[in-house]
Amino acid sequence: MVRHSSKIELSQSALKQNINFIRKKIGDDAILSSVVKANAFGHGIETFVPMAEKAGVKHFSVASSYEAWEVREACTKESTIMIMGILYDEDLEWVIEHEVEFFVFDLPRLEKAKEVAEKLGKKAIIHLEVETGGNRTGLDESELDEAIRFLKENRESIRFEGFCTHFAGIENLSNRFRTKNQLEKFEELYRQVEANEITPKLRHTACSAAALAYPETVMDMVRIGTAQFGMWPSPDIYNMHLQQVGKTSDSPMKRVLSWKTNVMHIKALKKDEYVGYGTSFQAPRDMTIAVLPLGYSNGYPRTLSNRGEVIIRGKKAPVVGLINMNVFMVDVSRINNVEVDDEVILIGRKNSHVINISSFSEVTRAINNELVSRLPDAIPRFAVK
Ligand SMILES: *Cc1c(COP(=O)(O)O)cnc(C)c1O
Repeated sequence: MVRHSSKIELSQSALKQNINFIRKKIGDDAILSSVVKANAFGHGIETFVPMAEKAGVKHFSVASSYEAWEVREACTKESTIMIMGILYDEDLEWVIEHEVEFFVFDLPRLEKAKEVAEKLGKKAIIHLEVETGGNRTGLDESELDEAIRFLKENRESIRFEGFCTHFAGIENLSNRFRTKNQLEKFEELYRQVEANEITPKLRHTACSAAALAYPETVMDMVRIGTAQFGMWPSPDIYNMHLQQVGKTSDSPMKRVLSWKTNVMHIKALKKDEYVGYGTSFQAPRDMTIAVLPLGYSNGYPRTLSNRGEVIIRGKKAPVVGLINMNVFMVDVSRINNVEVDDEVILIGRKNSHVINISSFSEVTRAINNELVSRLPDAIPRFAVK
C-alpha cells in the first residue's frame, strides 16, 4: 500500500460511551438506528459500521440505495438497513430482494413496490413518511387515505413496518413552535391510520436532538446521526442537557474521530517574507514554518486560512497563510526541535490541548456535520481502542 497524507482514527470506547449515553436517554425499548449517511458522517462506513455493531447497534439508516449497498458490504446479516431518501425504481429489485427497508413518500412508489415485490415473491418493507410541516419529503395528508387503503389491500406484498416523520430544526429552540406543531400533526395523522385498523410495527420521529432533549418524540425507534459520533446537535441541546442534570458543564459523550498527519517539510523564514501564495501572511519576525501535506482538497477547510490551529509535540501551532489545495503551513517558531515526519493532530487531543470539531466550525461557521461529512473517502480510517 502507498501511504496516504493523513489518517483518521475512530475510538471504540468513545463510541460505546456515546451509545450508552443515548440508550440511557431513550430507555430500553426503543430501537436505536444508527444513521450512517454520507459515509457515516465522514467517519467511514467500512470501519464505523462494524464498530457500531460491536457497541450493540443492529439497525442502520442511510440516505440512498447506494449507501445501503455500502452498509450491506460492511455489516453482518443480523443488521437491518433502512433507506430514508433517494431510491431509484431501477434499484427496487435489489432493495426488496435483500430486505432493505425504505421510506415511501408518494403513491407511485407504493404501486411500484407492490409490482416488484410480486415479481420477486418477497415482501417490500416500507416506512410511510408523512408530511408534518418540514416540507421536504413526506406523503401529503390528502394522499394518506389512499395510501392506507392501498396498504390494507396489499398486505401480501407490502409490509407496513413504520410510520414516520422528520423534524425541521428541532435542535434550535427558535424552531420550537414549528416542531411542536409537527409532533401534533404526526399524532393526528397516526390516529387516522389507527382508525383504519391497520397499524405499522413502529412509529418514529426522533433525530439526535429530539432523542436527547424531547422524550415524547422517542416512540418505538430513534434515528441517531450526529450524537453517536460525540457531537452535540447544537448549543441549545447541550444547555438543555445541563439543565436536566443540574450541572454547569458535563461531557457525557466523547468525540469518536481523530485526524492526523505528519510534518512534510520545515522552512526558516526571515522577517518581512511572505508565506505561500500571495500576501495573506507576512512574517512579523524571523520564524520557523512547518509545511503539512494536505489542503482543502483533502477536507481541511480553506476558511481556516490564517485562523486554524494544529497540535505538534503537545503544543498548538497556528495556521499561517492560505490553505492550498494540497498543502498548508503552520508556525512552529515556539515549539522546540520540530522535525520532518513529526505527528500533527488536526482534530484530536494531546495532553491538555484539544482541537475539537466544533472549534473548527466556530471559526468557519460551517456546522460540524458539514466538516466531517466532507472528509474524503480516500483518507484511511482505523479503529482504535
Ligand atoms: C440525517 C437524518 C437523521 C439523523 O439526524 P441527526 O440530527 O444527525 O441525528 C434522522 N432522520 C432523517 C430523516 C435524516 O435525514
